[in-house]
Amino acid sequence: MTRTFSYAGSPAQIVFGAGSRSKVAEWIARAGCKRALVLSTVYQKADAEALAQEIGDLVCGVFAGAVMHKPVEVTEAAMKVVAETGADCVVSLGGGSTTGLGKAIAYRTDLTQIVVPTTYAGSEVTPILGQTEAGRKTTVRDARILPEIVIYDASLTHGLPVAMSVTSGLNAMAHAVEGLYAKDRNPISTLMALEGLRAFAKSLPVIVRTPDDATARSDALYGAWLCGSVLGTVGMALHHKICHTLGGSFDTPHAETHAVMLPHTAAFNAAAAASELTEASDFFGGSIGGGLWDFAKDIGAPLSLREFGLTEVDLDHAASIAVENPYWNPRPIDRESIRSLLQDAWEGRRPAG
Ligand code: NAD
Repeated sequence: MTRTFSYAGSPAQIVFGAGSRSKVAEWIARAGCKRALVLSTVYQKADAEALAQEIGDLVCGVFAGAVMHKPVEVTEAAMKVVAETGADCVVSLGGGSTTGLGKAIAYRTDLTQIVVPTTYAGSEVTPILGQTEAGRKTTVRDARILPEIVIYDASLTHGLPVAMSVTSGLNAMAHAVEGLYAKDRNPISTLMALEGLRAFAKSLPVIVRTPDDATARSDALYGAWLCGSVLGTVGMALHHKICHTLGGSFDTPHAETHAVMLPHTAAFNAAAAASELTEASDFFGGSIGGGLWDFAKDIGAPLSLREFGLTEVDLDHAASIAVENPYWNPRPIDRESIRSLLQDAWEGRRPAG
């Protein structure tokens, strides 16, 4: 078969390596900035203050108010601090929630963003911003949203609790699995997706046994960069639609929802994208759905939607919402098949295929 594709590489600067947090000041200066506002959640405030101390004179303040779902009111509070301090860049230290706050500021101001990720969510390498206003979630894609510089330092992830490492890793892997059958996939996104899945398949079981294994932490963060880059490059499908539906309408936890749904959506789509998923299936014993479910079970991931307090009536609503304005998907969907897939995920049943 001859190849047809279109490809645009990301302009972001990636700096990867244990100890590279010490390079944040250098990269602020290289970006031509002089007044960095360091962002974090309240839980990582001490880490943000320590980083600010290390950066030294180039810091103008710390805002430790980032929260899940990026409510607009929090962005507005942070924007006040940006104005008061005269910040000319933000340094986002944390997971997708903190990165999201930095993105929301950059979307409004075009300030330079430097991200120092501490989870595997992958938001740092995408031009996508999800935010919540008056209880409604919206998603925007814009060049201003893509962070300019990402500094990956795996030593900052040694303290990421094992349960969060597992679900955050599976969240990242979901970007890669959907990237493999994306309509607009290209040879580079496929290489990144496979390499990212390989990195997580190898590292997550080690992290569960030995959370501060430096090689496994480095491999997992490398996987996060690759899987996040896939999310930033190609379109996502049914899996992301269902997870957004569950998170948006039923407030289920982000990474955990991805972890539960991934084996089910992968098995569902394998029926239509078997060849695209063959190589990835080999990392998980030859079947993508069942293999991912076994992998998730072995590393202690949540396996059922029931664990998040959803009821079967919620599944009826979720199935209806998920088929409204559906994303492109390799396998045609209908309400009945999605309802049945959700039932399997709710019960925590091992998918066939
Ligand atoms: P998170 O950023 O919400 O972090 C969860 C909690 O863990 C926070 O309290 C955080 O401070 C803490 N934490 C983070 N790293 C830690 C560490 N190393 N040690 C100890 N605690 C740590 O979680 P997340 O899963 O990274 O991000 C989820 C959010 O990101 C969701 O809102 C999701 O929609 C968004 N997201 C966006 C994109 C995108 O491209 N726009 C991609 C992926 C995720």
